[in-house]
Amino acid sequence: MEKRNQLYEGKAKKVYETDAQGLLIVSYKDDATAFNGLKKGTISGKGIINNRMSNILMQRLEKGGIPTHFVEELNERETVVRRVSIVPLEVIVRNIAAGSFSQRYGVVEGEVFASPTIEFSYKNDELGDPLINDYHAIALKLATVEELETIKRYAFAVNEQLKSFWKDCGVTLVDFKLEFGRLGNGTIVLADEISPDTCRLWDSRTGEKLDKDRFRRDLGGVEDAYAEVMKRLTEHL
Ligand code: UDP
Repeated sequence: MEKRNQLYEGKAKKVYETDAQGLLIVSYKDDATAFNGLKKGTISGKGIINNRMSNILMQRLEKGGIPTHFVEELNERETVVRRVSIVPLEVIVRNIAAGSFSQRYGVVEGEVFASPTIEFSYKNDELGDPLINDYHAIALKLATVEELETIKRYAFAVNEQLKSFWKDCGVTLVDFKLEFGRLGNGTIVLADEISPDTCRLWDSRTGEKLDKDRFRRDLGGVEDAYAEVMKRLTEHL
């Protein structure tokens, strides 16, 4: 398969058209941003880890009955994915209070929920990705009622599978962000990435943060944390 023109460059990935109908190539960068692009930096080797980790997790989820955009890993930074139109929602599932949830509701970080929560943000950089509910998403025509039902069902199923998988690796899945897309025929599939950029992952024993919060909060050891979760993952394949 041949790479053609660049379609899009995002914060962490570039997307290219290909000579194959309905297929794109994503290329993972080492660039990191936080706080809606206000904080910028580089996490050396991150693109390689996120590409590999996301592909491993998507393939497992696919086996577990979740349709995804994953097609084939090309090399350490590039992957072939199905072309989708992204549903402009950030779908956030949480098991433990952290980050914006803790801030917004005044809940101490680390409080474990009786059952997982879900929330949506409207993907819109100018507006700063505002939190919205299902009815807002429908009013804004971001998704249909049926699509939202499918997205929520998949998101909670992804949570159960990832939680149990990470637990075996000695890692607690605190929360994560998913994005979904529509194939040409309207089918909803999991898209974007699943990585330490998009998940909060805490060492189950020590509580040490092994994710992008090390970058957001200037905790140091960012590269080591990404390498550590990747190592845990590959040891438990
Ligand atoms: N998240 C993400 N992209 C975003 C916002 C959040 O991947 O634009 C992930 C984040 O890494 C965390 C989860 O979604 O695992 C919940 O993030 P939260 O709403 O607490 O926002 P934050 O505190 O990161 O601003």
